[in-house]
Amino acid sequence: MFDVLVIGGGVIGGCVLRELSKYSLSVCMIEKESDVAMGASRANSGIVHAGFDAKVGSLKAKFNVLGHAMMEDYTKELGVKFERNGSLVVAFSKEELNALYELKERGKKNGVQKLRILNKEELKEIEPNLSNNAVGALYAPTAGIVCPYKLAIATIGNAMDNGAKLVLDFECESITKNGDFFSVKSKDDREIFSRIIINCAGLGAQKIANMAGDFSFQVKARRGEYLLLDKNQSGFVKRTLFFAPTEKGKGILVSPTVDGNIILGPTADEVEENFTDTTTFGLSQIQDKAKVMTPNLKLSEVITSFAGARAYCDRHDFIVEESTVVRGLINCAGIESPGLTSAPAIAKYVVEDLVLKDVEGVKKEDFNPTRRPDDFFAKLDVDDKNEIIKREPSYGRIVCRCEKITEGEIVRAIKVNPKATTIDGVKRRVRAGMGRCQGGFCQPQIMEIIARENNLSVFDINKGSKGSYIVKEITK
Ligand SMILES: Cc1cc2nc3c(=O)[nH]c(=O)nc-3n(C[C@H](O)[C@H](O)[C@H](O)COP(=O)(O)OP(=O)(O)OC[C@H]3O[C@@H](n4cnc5c(N)ncnc54)[C@H](O)[C@@H]3O)c2cc1C
Repeated sequence: MFDVLVIGGGVIGGCVLRELSKYSLSVCMIEKESDVAMGASRANSGIVHAGFDAKVGSLKAKFNVLGHAMMEDYTKELGVKFERNGSLVVAFSKEELNALYELKERGKKNGVQKLRILNKEELKEIEPNLSNNAVGALYAPTAGIVCPYKLAIATIGNAMDNGAKLVLDFECESITKNGDFFSVKSKDDREIFSRIIINCAGLGAQKIANMAGDFSFQVKARRGEYLLLDKNQSGFVKRTLFFAPTEKGKGILVSPTVDGNIILGPTADEVEENFTDTTTFGLSQIQDKAKVMTPNLKLSEVITSFAGARAYCDRHDFIVEESTVVRGLINCAGIESPGLTSAPAIAKYVVEDLVLKDVEGVKKEDFNPTRRPDDFFAKLDVDDKNEIIKREPSYGRIVCRCEKITEGEIVRAIKVNPKATTIDGVKRRVRAGMGRCQGGFCQPQIMEIIARENNLSVFDINKGSKGSYIVKEITK
């Protein structure tokens, strides 16, 4: 029997699990996929929003501003890259320019610091590749960028290092309340008992609530497609460039990523469930819009496309509350953007204000808030690298040529919490396969390393989700 069970291994579940692991509680996370960070937390813009966008008084506004304030220290502890690159909402007409003053006012009410309207000349000076048609912008110097899936992976890894349990490939299919505890069953009939459930299932959050007997909200999916440019375009823009926001969200942006790529997107269209295929229409929409923002953009440098799906809810705000009909069920639902930014603050609120009122937890004195960065080796100088290579020669063998990732780093990703078991899992932890060739050269080697380290055959290794095998049969 666990004190608390977190359902869903995205960035919200991850931050909640880490917060829980600070206390003397027995805590567990279940995730339906073979790895964590496989939902919206895998594919989004990675922007740490300043907080001027959300409606004044909403939970989105509250948690955005609080989460934004926490992000720098939070990522430092976890060894996750965070950069305060600033953002610009760019106006292309007088009407849009006027709307920026409203946005600035909203930001002020939400508690956002240092917002400023820039004129055309100021804009061109700081972003020379911006279109000459831009007439002004709202500048938020405090906005930042982070790698979303690395944040989720690091929070879950750190929570596990502090005693939390992770069960993968556990798709919750039924929830029964027996007196003061829940029985949670998987598709394949495994069962976990817990006193409290925290529903962080993203697009699956409505189904989880329904299983427990709560029918108070609906969650729908809105897909966002992206294009990613090669690192050779690094520096093309320094800040995150937004168009003026619309009803459907913040629109298509042009932004650097923390790893030196340029990201373009997302689109916004309603889809059934977690439908994350890319489309010709969506990708050409992105190209057209991005060219309006930055006409000199080299679209020939696109190295990949992908899509994520936002879980938005009929209440038009985040749901972060104990269910009013099922005691002990805490719902974190409808966490669309700015959910990534808000995650640390949502987690703190959930644990301190909702969980600890029902279960007794004492702060652990031996909680270790830090985690060694997955990219620690790349950051070392040559002498330190050589020292490690002397002890462990696999750190001297480059496997991913584009990103210069060594066998030692890949083996480490397979061994440290939360252990990578798939090719995409390795990719998300150490960037092997993230470069220009997108794994064309290193994928077979990574597959062999995962198989070797787990005493498995290459036939057992998945690319991503269960069943996505690469090797089907031997041809020669
Ligand atoms: C296109 C796009 C752009 C975005 N841009 C930004 C941005 O720039 N900045 C920002 O702050 N936010 C952004 N967001 C929002 C942010 O990505 C989300 O708020 C955040 O990732 C939500 O995390 P989550 O943990 O709630 O959901 P998820 O990451 O989707 O995690 C939910 C998990 O639950 C699991 N699950 C579901 N059902 C079950 C079940 N029955 N049993 C077990 N496990 C289950 C899923 O497999 C999944 O891993 C964006 C989102 C999208 C899609």
